[in-house]
Amino acid sequence: MDTLNQYEKYLREISKLNSAVALLVWDQRTYIPKGGHEARAEVVGKLSTMAFEMSVSDELGGYLEALERQDGLSEAQAASVRVVGKQYRRTKAIPATLFEQYVIDRSRSEAAWEEAKANGDFALFKPHLAKMVDYAKQFAEYYGYQDCPYDALLDEFEPGMTSRELKTIVEPLREKLVPLLRRLMEDGTPPDGSLIEGSFPLDRQHELSLRALRAINYDFEHGRMDDTVHPFTIGIAPGDVRITNRFIETMAISGLMSALHEGGHALYDLGMPAELHHLGLGNGASFGIHESQSRMWENMVGRSLPFWKLFRRDLVDVFPQLSSATAEDLYRAVNVVQPSLIRVEADEVTYNLHIMVRFEIEQALFDGSLAVADLPDAWNTAMEKYLGVRPSNNAEGVLQDVHWSGGMFGYFPSYMLGNLYSAQLLATIKREIPDLDARIESGDTKALLDWTREKIHRYGQIHEPKDLILKVTGESLSPSYFLDYIEAKFFPIYGL
Ligand code: ZN
Repeated sequence: MDTLNQYEKYLREISKLNSAVALLVWDQRTYIPKGGHEARAEVVGKLSTMAFEMSVSDELGGYLEALERQDGLSEAQAASVRVVGKQYRRTKAIPATLFEQYVIDRSRSEAAWEEAKANGDFALFKPHLAKMVDYAKQFAEYYGYQDCPYDALLDEFEPGMTSRELKTIVEPLREKLVPLLRRLMEDGTPPDGSLIEGSFPLDRQHELSLRALRAINYDFEHGRMDDTVHPFTIGIAPGDVRITNRFIETMAISGLMSALHEGGHALYDLGMPAELHHLGLGNGASFGIHESQSRMWENMVGRSLPFWKLFRRDLVDVFPQLSSATAEDLYRAVNVVQPSLIRVEADEVTYNLHIMVRFEIEQALFDGSLAVADLPDAWNTAMEKYLGVRPSNNAEGVLQDVHWSGGMFGYFPSYMLGNLYSAQLLATIKREIPDLDARIESGDTKALLDWTREKIHRYGQIHEPKDLILKVTGESLSPSYFLDYIEAKFFPIYGL
């Protein structure tokens, strides 16, 4: 058997282990009885360690080394050698003893964060956070970078992105978005969001989400939706990508919007050919591109007027008490803009401002201009400056997100990039499918799905995000599409 065959066979063995882990984790987060957790954690640990050891083995290193010199690889095979090789080198770069200590300290840090958040007590979390920052700094040195350590962290989530490039996107975005928000709040007339608040039985909300998923072509032959605490999407294997959801009784559509969001992630995963999974390329081009697919279905479809012209009858069928609401009323109700303290509750206009606060803080932490002890102050000041709101305690401020407690630095920008990518993609889609709105209104959402499959999904990780965006839209990423989209949508809603 030649090296290529051996390599592909080896990757398949790793993905079988990962597939088993994914199924066990899905069960852990949905149906496992309480008494099963302890034993399950050991099984997950065992299988994960086996997959990890295979992914850093000398055997894999040997295949990669041989294939890096081999001519005649297909586009996908060459991409596989590049992507798998990069991950291999990154993981191998960290000394095993350092990584083991990190894993121990990370679980302490996560536990401390939970307690600190519950009590709004930053001092409790501070020494753990300082440790996590210190680990990330050490890892960045091992990974290597050109300009600054933060780039090495960003690269994990958005391959090829640097902080210098991000700044050229963030700064013009902020300069326009902050005054735009102020204008909406000061001069605009807010829509009435109260009509979708009240009492909405959870089983009916579940039914509504199933209908929404069918409306966007999520295929229940290849997935399912189950209840959980925090919604997520999980790929068990090619052809089996599941989502989970949670519902809030007082809010008619919060679960529906989560279903569209997770459904968007699942459609992306399901749109990747199985052979890319087997080549280790089945994860999406980046976290940002993945997020662009979820935001597209959640916001650009799910919060659009054509969607509500289509979906109003389902909503009213499930919740007859909403029968007096028109499609226009519903469209306006799902598009209330409200600067708030909590990122996960943010609307389309304010969401990126929450991310900017985090991005600036992360940059400052890693260039040494901000000490961990000064984080709460830096956070509160930035929130006030960009969103006009100031947390009164750290639980609704700097302690609100789990990411930093687990050492995830450089992740937050993915959310913002997802918003920006999706707006730029939508502008291209509307050029190429001029009657997109009419199609969605008539129930033909397949046109949009087919477009994303053809232009994005089928490539998996073959292209880096910046190449993919250039290839598909004809331009590098620009925040102007997002700003145009926000203006065109929200100024009319706010009567401006
Ligand atoms: Zn997401």
